Amino acid sequence: MSEKQRIVLASANAHKIREISQMLPEFNVVGYKDLGFNEEIIEDGKTFYENALIKAKTVSLALGLPALADDSGICVDALGGEPGIYSARYAGDGIDAHNNKLLLENMQGKTDRKAKFVCCMVFYKPNGEILSATGETHGEIMLEEHGQNGFGYDPLFFSYDLNQCLGEASAQDKNKISHRFRAITALKDKLK
Ligand code: IMP
Repeated sequence: MSEKQRIVLASANAHKIREISQMLPEFNVVGYKDLGFNEEIIEDGKTFYENALIKAKTVSLALGLPALADDSGICVDALGGEPGIYSARYAGDGIDAHNNKLLLENMQGKTDRKAKFVCCMVFYKPNGEILSATGETHGEIMLEEHGQNGFGYDPLFFSYDLNQCLGEASAQDKNKISHRFRAITALKDKLK
């Protein structure tokens, strides 16, 4: 039996590692911490693409393996696309509950509640080859949190595709419509 090709995922987020492994069953997806990578990566890019590239390139060159990185976030129309690339630390401390609370505060009185999750995936090979793809999923910011599923802003995001809040959707359903799934699907086409 042939061994699956190993890809390092430049992320320490256990939710993301699980989601991405499920979407790439043909690869052996390993989080960078499992390969002993412990350096801090400074994500000082101005776009999702730049940040994903910084992560994938840093990890690939350090470990000498092909690396996959994603950078993702939520962009809210009424907030001019914020929090965007700053989604993870919107409230300053990286705690999901605080980010969600701040988002609800900033959305008070807004009638346009349209939003999208965006994910940019970058695959970097130690020889410098780069492949990238972006995926989006659209919906609205709800008036309060619903459900306990998923992570991050999921309990506040009503998905147009599922007609359901992502906080209440199963992982299986979310993975069919998510920004990460769409970015990975587009990237897989390019990997072929
Ligand atoms: P990253 O790890 O720098 O890409 O930060 C992504 C941040 O965007 C996460 O910490 C979440 O706050 C948010 N985010 C990205 N994808 C999702 C998702 O699928 N559901 C909920 N929140 C997400």
